[in-house]
Amino acid sequence: MIDQKHAAAAPNTVAKVVDRLFGRSSSAVPSQPTGELARYGEIIQRVREVMLRHVIEPNPANYDLVYRHIIAHEPRLEDAMDQLIKSGYAPPSGGFSSGQTGVSEAAIDGIVDDAQKHLVAIEAMIKKSTTDAKGFGDALEGSAAKFSTNAADSSLQSLISVTKAMIEKTRAAENELRLRSKAMTDLKMSLNEAQVQADTDALTGLSNRRAFERMLGAGGARAMMSGKPMSLAICDIDHFKKFNDTYGHDVGDRVLRFVSSVLLENCGRRGAVSRHGGEEFVVIFEETTPEMAYEIIDAARRDLFERNFVNKDTDESIGNVSFSAGVAVLGETGDVGHLLRSADRSLYRAKADGRNCVVMSPHV
Ligand code: GH3
Ligand code: MG
Ligand code: MG
Repeated sequence: MIDQKHAAAAPNTVAKVVDRLFGRSSSAVPSQPTGELARYGEIIQRVREVMLRHVIEPNPANYDLVYRHIIAHEPRLEDAMDQLIKSGYAPPSGGFSSGQTGVSEAAIDGIVDDAQKHLVAIEAMIKKSTTDAKGFGDALEGSAAKFSTNAADSSLQSLISVTKAMIEKTRAAENELRLRSKAMTDLKMSLNEAQVQADTDALTGLSNRRAFERMLGAGGARAMMSGKPMSLAICDIDHFKKFNDTYGHDVGDRVLRFVSSVLLENCGRRGAVSRHGGEEFVVIFEETTPEMAYEIIDAARRDLFERNFVNKDTDESIGNVSFSAGVAVLGETGDVGHLLRSADRSLYRAKADGRNCVVMSPHV
C-alpha cells in the first residue's frame, strides 16, 4: 500500500510549479480575447489542466507533448491522406463505359494496404502500452514495499520519480494509440467511400458492371441453394447513337439517366438494376420466374415509350425513346455466364424483330 499522506505530496509540488508557469486562472490570458488569440488561450488552459491532472513534470518537452496531444497534430494521417489523394480518384483503366468515373482498383488496394499497416501498428502499440502499464505497476509495488519498511526520504523520492516516469511513458503510449485509432477510423471511412464509388456508375448512380457481376454470382449461388428461380433481363436503348449525333452528348446522357429512373421505378424491390455499360442495362430478378420478369420489363418498356422527351435547353421535342430486351432464367447447372449469354441472344433477337420489344429465351 502507498502512504496516502506522502504520495499526495508529489502532485501538490508539481501543481505549484505548473501554476507558476502557466497561471492559475484565466486572468493569465488577456481579458476577452477573440479569434486566434482566444483559441490559443483555451489551448494553453487545457494544456495546464492536463499537466496538472496527470502530474506531468513541467518541462518544455512535456509541454510540447501535451500541446500536440491537445491540438491533435497528426502527421501520419496527413501523409496517408496525401497518398490517398495522389493515388486515388483516377478513372478506371478499362472495362467501364465512357462517362464513368471512380477509384481504380490499384488505389483501393493501396488504401487497404495502408489500413492493414495501421492495424499492425495498433496491435504493437496495444502490446507496448500493456507492457508499460505492467512495468508501472511493478515499479510502484517495488518502491511501495521498500517505502513501508524504510520510510526514508530517498524512498519517497524514488517512488515519485518512478511514478512520474511511468505516467509520462503511459501518456505517450496512450497518445500514440489515440492518433493511430483516429487514423484507422479515417482510413476505414475512406475505404468504404472508395468501395462505394468503385461499385457505382457515376452518370446514373446505378451499380456498375463490376458490382453487377458480383451480385449475379452471389444471386446465382443463393438460387442454387434455395432452389428458387433467378431471372435476368438485358435492356439496350434503340438507336441511341442518333440522340448523341442529333442533339449532342449531354442530351444522350440525360436520356441514359431517364431510362435508368424508369427501370428503377418499374422494377422496385423486385429487381436489381445495374448499368452494364454504354446504353445497356441489366436487371437481376431473384426468386422470380422468367414470365414475371418479362411482365415487369415489358411494363417498363411501355412506360418509357409512352413519354415524350423534350430537350430542356431548346424546349424542342426529341420524340420517343425505346429499348429492346432479352430475358432468361438461370439453368439447372447454375452457370451465370450461360444465363448472361442466353439473355444477350434474346436481346439480339428483339433487335432483329424490329426493336422496342422483349424476347424471352427458351428455358433449358
Ligand atoms: P441499337 O438500336 O442497335 O442498339 O443502336 P444504338 O445506336 O443504340 O447502338 P450503338 O452501339 O450503335 O451506339 C451506342 C452509342 O452509345 C455509341 C456510344 O457513343 C454511346 N454511348 C455509350 N456510352 C455513353 C454515355 O455514357 N453517354 C452518351 N451520351 N453516349 C454514350
Ligand atoms: Mg448497345
Ligand atoms: Mg442500343
